Amino acid sequence: MDFSGITRRRLLVSGGSGVLGLTVVGCSSPSPSASLPPTSSPASPASSSSPGAGGEALGGWNRVDLDFVSVYILVRGAEAAVVDLGVANSAPDIEAGLKAAGMSWSSVKHILLTHKHADHAGSLPTVAPLVTGSIHTGAADVAALANAQVKPLDDGAEIFGLRVIGTPGHTAGHISIFDPSTGVLVAGDALRTVSGLQGADPKYTDDTARANRSVRALAELPVRTILPGHGAPITEDAAGKLRKLADSLT
Ligand SMILES: [Zn+2]
Repeated sequence: MDFSGITRRRLLVSGGSGVLGLTVVGCSSPSPSASLPPTSSPASPASSSSPGAGGEALGGWNRVDLDFVSVYILVRGAEAAVVDLGVANSAPDIEAGLKAAGMSWSSVKHILLTHKHADHAGSLPTVAPLVTGSIHTGAADVAALANAQVKPLDDGAEIFGLRVIGTPGHTAGHISIFDPSTGVLVAGDALRTVSGLQGADPKYTDDTARANRSVRALAELPVRTILPGHGAPITEDAAGKLRKLADSLT
């Protein structure tokens, strides 16, 4: 029997109905074997299925705080873009975030994955069948995701009014997303704020020197808000802090 198929169909049905959605959320993370990636917090998918788990306004962006890592949703009119998909089994939490922002999976026109790591793209296999919009990541990370729906994006590309900034180093295909209309920078793992503003964690970074060059490139942008993969957003003096960090890197 194909239980995953059943789950997907139920989730699709729930797309237009907030009430049914709550029922569905409870059934939608059934596969205990699916959560392989290391995560510092125990898997407790039910804890954040309340509609309030989603949105905190950040220049029009909504943060879905998955404790260990964040997903960000940008709503424009009746459409949404989602940056990153969290660890495996995050689909219900992301769905709650979409609902809190007045959206559903069918509103999602673009999914942008900053890079291939399992804490940012872990829910790709369960989310991909739920969306008809495009799914992109940086060209060098596409193959590792092994999903035919994922297409490459290059540095400088424009999508949904957002600019793709190639920020290689953490992974070769790492991209950051810059919103020129608001100065919001969604940085993936190019930047982290778990303990002040820092660059990519060297422990998990393919090429730290390259990652540092990417931080210096980000510091050239007119950044007003930093939305990192790990840690809280920076909304105060983001450009100054980023410049200071860039200057400190060799
Ligand atoms: Zn990473």
